[in-house]
Amino acid sequence: ITILGLESSCDDTAAAVVRAGDKTEILASVVAGQTDLHAEFGGVVPEIAARAHVEKLDLCVEEALAQSGMTLSDLDAIAVTAGPGLIGGVLAGVMMAKGLSAATGLPLIGVNHLAGHALTPRLTDGAAYPYLMLLVSGGHCQFLIVKGPEDFTRLGGTIDDAPGEAFDKTARLLALPQPGGPAVETEAAMGDPKRFRLPRPLLDRPGCDMSFSGLKTALLRERDKIVTVKGGITVQDRADLCAGFQAAVADVLAEKSRRALAEYMALSPAEPLLAVAGGVAANIAIRAALETVCGEAGAEFLAPPLALCTDNAAMIAWAGIERYRAGHTDDLTLAARPRWPLDNAAQPMLGSGK
Ligand code: ATP
Ligand code: FE
Repeated sequence: ITILGLESSCDDTAAAVVRAGDKTEILASVVAGQTDLHAEFGGVVPEIAARAHVEKLDLCVEEALAQSGMTLSDLDAIAVTAGPGLIGGVLAGVMMAKGLSAATGLPLIGVNHLAGHALTPRLTDGAAYPYLMLLVSGGHCQFLIVKGPEDFTRLGGTIDDAPGEAFDKTARLLALPQPGGPAVETEAAMGDPKRFRLPRPLLDRPGCDMSFSGLKTALLRERDKIVTVKGGITVQDRADLCAGFQAAVADVLAEKSRRALAEYMALSPAEPLLAVAGGVAANIAIRAALETVCGEAGAEFLAPPLALCTDNAAMIAWAGIERYRAGHTDDLTLAARPRWPLDNAAQPMLGSGK
């Protein structure tokens, strides 16, 4: 099976071709970012993002086909992110996919963006069901037990900000560049994580829910205290603040992962696995903390290559392949959805689904 995947739900326009047979191959994965377009606004502007997707989508498709050496007639289907995300961008991708489907007669497959992230360990490492997934990105933070391509059980997640968002806000408070994650991590490496004792929200409560917005407020308070006393913050103050913040996020993710693992291990998986996805999985301190927790619980830890942890279309093509194999395709009534929770208990999982 060879599938073209399209992704345009946030600020990356992407197209990829994935082939699955005896072995699985990513034949092409093209990602066109928009960081420079949004830089002066300090965040993603939905309208600008949507226009950029419209401009870049067909170039990305052409590039992906050229790199893979495929033509449209070599494909079996077209998969596209149909939500959740910024609706203008999602619509741009869905329209593009419908156009290609109508022109070629190829089946259309609507994919949930979060399912794309959650199924990535199967694309990169052939992970067997079930496994535990921690999705930690700029927009999401949740634990999922992944039991099948359309079978997800959510164990908990953030009740406010996602960790990536908290990293980005922290960077803004400390006049560091965006995206904040890498900048804060670099600063943290030179800082003392114990100097500022920031809160570990919700650890006193049972379950896997998390909260990160209070951390940023606590950090702001510490920064302002220093400014009041000294009139400004030094390079060392900043590094210590970053280190304290990062340690708090790592502690919360580690403790909640310990609890999520305990719930998942109760299913007695043959080869217990915790996999991560999302941009925050790039953070070395956070990875190390999660690895330790897995070691203690007797589970394996898996972090796919970073390019496949952040937004990309290979994961969408792969999720499309899984869905195609399960016999599901969509038609031209496929709707773009701004919200689309990934849980058995929530609305029906996928697309206009047949
Ligand atoms: P989503 O995929 O949920 O729609 P997104 O596209 O913003 O959101 P990603 O591209 O997966 O998410 O990740 C980007 C986020 O990851 C940003 O918030 C960024 O600050 C964060 N991030 C990237 N590198 C690091 C790092 N080394 N440490 C911490 N956070 C990081
Ligand atoms: Fe994403």
